[in-house]
Amino acid sequence: MSVLDLARPDIRSLAPYSSARMEAQGGTVLLNANESSRSPNVPGGEGLNRYPDPQPRVLVETLAELYGSTADRLLVTRGSDEAIDLLVRAFCRAGQDAVVVSPPTFGMYAVCARIQGASVIESPLQPSGALDAEALLAAVTPTTKLVFVCTPNNPTGNLVPRDVLVRLASALTDRAILVVDEAYAEFSGATSAVTLIDEYDNVAVLRTLSKAWSLAGARVGTLVARAEVIGLLRRIIPPYPLPSPCVDAALGALSYEGRRLQRHHVQEVLGERARMLAELSRVPGVREVLPSHANFLAVRFDDAAGTYRRLLAAGVVVRDITRYPGLGDALRITVGTGNENDRVLAVLRAGAAA
Ligand SMILES: *Cc1c(COP(=O)(O)O)cnc(C)c1O
Repeated sequence: MSVLDLARPDIRSLAPYSSARMEAQGGTVLLNANESSRSPNVPGGEGLNRYPDPQPRVLVETLAELYGSTADRLLVTRGSDEAIDLLVRAFCRAGQDAVVVSPPTFGMYAVCARIQGASVIESPLQPSGALDAEALLAAVTPTTKLVFVCTPNNPTGNLVPRDVLVRLASALTDRAILVVDEAYAEFSGATSAVTLIDEYDNVAVLRTLSKAWSLAGARVGTLVARAEVIGLLRRIIPPYPLPSPCVDAALGALSYEGRRLQRHHVQEVLGERARMLAELSRVPGVREVLPSHANFLAVRFDDAAGTYRRLLAAGVVVRDITRYPGLGDALRITVGTGNENDRVLAVLRAGAAA
């Protein structure tokens, strides 16, 4: 059995759109794509009159090296959000197929599934925050095509151990794709699930430059999966997903100097995360700070709504996650700069004293 047998048959047989840039490469007089022959007269506009390369070779190879894979196993997308959408659209038949998610977790999996008309099966995390692999497997139905696992998980920050991922990948072989979302992997130090793809053809891994690489505004995500899965998604991705200024920004961030700065930045976040965990745990009104492997902390408060309002009144915006199951008293606080974190602590301590 091929992993593609899980995909929608109509997508497998679809003739993809063939863009001008894909059909003919080389040449210096480019009159095949109805572009303007003149660069726009705006700052940084040189060359922006041309459609971008759909999958720029240098970027694909740089990301392949970064994530420990190869170019044929990589699809660069408009943020990993787009990769989630492409997976759901390629594998789930509307009105028939399903995805499995483990709430509380990232909301886009369910949103993309619902937009596609796929049903969403929920297998909640254990009260401890740990993923319940056996319950999750029991929730998988014959029409389940995708199982989403986020590690470190947003919004709880917990890690899914590698043996649990192996158990899932193995049990789901020939049944469903295990999509491992590693948006926060750089803050965890854990080995990437990319290393499972050689052995398991049903593992797909989501990575992004939005968090640890400071490039949320550039929208550069990556899907790593078997070449046949990547080939299928290349058929349905919009023709020119990556704006050239974003590609340039990504290449800058991934340069030698960019990587040095990134390592420094991640170390700084880890230091601040440890400090915030310790300090927040001592603030009156804080019930619990969930240990986190990401760049945020989920914090339980005696009065989450009041705390949210006090922070907001002081100009500090955090994420209200009280609507998530099991987190009815929690706010998610991103680890900021030392000064930003000090402001959070000052507001919380002032509120506690009042
Ligand atoms: C932020 C986030 C993403 C989205 O990343 P983009 O690459 O910016 O689309 C994906 N998954 C999780 C769990 C996230 O928290």
